[in-house]
Amino acid sequence: MTSRIALITGATAGIGEATARLLAKNNFRLILCGRRGDRLKALQDELTSTTAVTTLTFDVTKRAQVSKAIQSLPPEWQDIDVLINNAGGAHGLDPIQNGSVDDWDAMIDVNVKGLLYISHAVIPIMVAKNRGHIVNLGSIAGREVYANGNVYCASKFAVDALSRAMRIDLNASAIKVTQVNPGLVETEFALVRFKGNKERASQPYKGLEPLRGDDIADLILFALTRPPHVVVADMVVFPVAQASATVVKREG
Ligand code: NAP
Repeated sequence: MTSRIALITGATAGIGEATARLLAKNNFRLILCGRRGDRLKALQDELTSTTAVTTLTFDVTKRAQVSKAIQSLPPEWQDIDVLINNAGGAHGLDPIQNGSVDDWDAMIDVNVKGLLYISHAVIPIMVAKNRGHIVNLGSIAGREVYANGNVYCASKFAVDALSRAMRIDLNASAIKVTQVNPGLVETEFALVRFKGNKERASQPYKGLEPLRGDDIADLILFALTRPPHVVVADMVVFPVAQASATVVKREG
């Protein structure tokens, strides 16, 4: 069997980058996506000795860029088997009464509309062949609302609804849909949320051993390598020190 083609959004950092490295070692051909072209190029250079890699530099929140990027794929890359909807993040952590509308726009645009735009471009390819696998990065924030999480939580609740909806609507096409919902993972996530403030960004991970991008990549690979008749529909994963969105045991 030829190796599957996996398109990963948000492959320039964190969970997406770790997933790219792990899938490369496991015989997937990779389409790496993100806005930071220099990082995509560096990762492509690193992984090409292991597998075939191409890159697409675009912003998932820009509808025209998304469809142009997918249409620009050369024929040998068009037959996408796996879509990993990973690009996303949080912007700000403020009570709703003080929230920044720009932050709200950014989260809805990337976590909800970005996921929809790329899915709209890729799903027809899967439907045409009655096969494929979509992995959506949800979050514990899509299961529990926490103080000041308001719009980020809303955007991840939307991802949860869309993952369920995809599984139902794509049932007739035998397309697998998996949602992975992590708790605290140490990536660039907090740095983005706190707008580059390293001190604030280190706080969520203080006094505990958080998950790493590699831990999530491992679960994604597990879901992608089940037999054809098995779909892992939904996973929630925490570091051992975390019991819910708000219950976290910290040392010191
Ligand atoms: P990260 O290290 O900040 O990586 C986020 C990735 O998304 C980057 O590669 C970034 O690439 C890409 N991205 C962001 N905005 C984009 C845009 N407009 N267009 C294209 N790409 C964009 O964060 P992460 O922790 O790996 O997050 C990955 C996913 O996991 C997100 O959906 C996040 O919500 C979810 N998640 C994270 C955690 C956590 O604790 N870290 C927990 C639960 C869920 P560019 O900047 O190069 O575009």
